[in-house]
Amino acid sequence: MTTRADKLTTYRRKRDFTRTREPAGGGRSKSSKLAYVIQKHAASRLHYDLRLELDGVMKSWAVPKGPSLDPSVKRLAIHVEDHPIEYNRFEGTIPAGEYGGGTVMVWDYGTYTSANGEGDPEQALREGYRIGDFKFVLRGKRLRGSWVLVRTKGWGDRSRQGQWLLIKHRDDDADPDTDPVAEYLTSATSGRTMEEIAEGKPAKRPRKPRG
Ligand code: MN
Repeated sequence: MTTRADKLTTYRRKRDFTRTREPAGGGRSKSSKLAYVIQKHAASRLHYDLRLELDGVMKSWAVPKGPSLDPSVKRLAIHVEDHPIEYNRFEGTIPAGEYGGGTVMVWDYGTYTSANGEGDPEQALREGYRIGDFKFVLRGKRLRGSWVLVRTKGWGDRSRQGQWLLIKHRDDDADPDTDPVAEYLTSATSGRTMEEIAEGKPAKRPRKPRG
């Protein structure tokens, strides 16, 4: 049986935790709901890391162009190593020269569940992930509704990362006229731009109403 610690072996091997402030991981989710996050990551190439909680870790895909709300658009999503659940809150800068060096923004977050309304949602998600037809419903701050990740190649071969496609399903949350990547340029948690995160500026708090 694969334990949670085993699943994070690749994640830990790639990182020097004396140099990066990213979490080493191993904690549990604080919620009974499954976590969802997208982190905008200005590494050597800008990309959007989509992470979905499954069996104690965050299953992770690097989406170079980010999500599209247009159901006719298929976005390449490269499966990368499982990440710890604590990673969802990570926003900051990974030192240059370290793995993934660059600025990380929490671009969207929330919860998600299975698109299959019957039975155990986690079992349906596990099976969808296994067969490479992973249907899910996002309840994020910015992205919502029904989506699918479809595996196209590269599964089971450790030398290659799996290649998937991220596609929005047709529903009320589909919107071919809105590009969320262009629309949302600040952090969903701190309100900061990528530049402000890189400069270490403090989070912007919404002004409290007076009176
Ligand atoms: Mn990344």
